Amino acid sequence: MTVGTIIRIVYFTAFSYLAAGLSTTDIVRLTAGQKRPVLTHDCYCENCGCMIPLSNQLPVISHLMNRGRCRNCDAKIPVLQFVQECGLFAGMLLIGALFRFQPAAFLLSILYYELFKTGVLLYKGVRTEHFGKQLTNSLLMNLLIFGCGFLLYCLLWLLLP
Ligand SMILES: [Zn+2]
Repeated sequence: MTVGTIIRIVYFTAFSYLAAGLSTTDIVRLTAGQKRPVLTHDCYCENCGCMIPLSNQLPVISHLMNRGRCRNCDAKIPVLQFVQECGLFAGMLLIGALFRFQPAAFLLSILYYELFKTGVLLYKGVRTEHFGKQLTNSLLMNLLIFGCGFLLYCLLWLLLP
């Protein structure tokens, strides 16, 4: 295994993990019908409204460490969020591994993320007056984040053997 391959796998893993983290803000806000824009980086507890520090926003790990509860008000965080984080992280990595971490695998994992999101949206079936605007924001934000992530990944492929 070359150094380039290792770096690409690490990058792919980190990106999938970040995407899983992003999903709790991105998807949850879309389904919760909150007025807060999906673009802000701050996360809030749906129950008490307290701001969740970055150290408590780690996908999968934070949920396990806090036993699925808000540290401030002890309210239970929906299990669906945990399933979503695991499903996205594991799924994206699996796609990467199946397609040998090729740039096309990166695009496929992004497609998987958006399909997963659509699935959750359909499952929850929540539509609010802000939904259209939120969805547009969400798509634009993801286009920017995933687009930059993909470009960097392509650069890695070109620069490292
Ligand atoms: Zn709370």
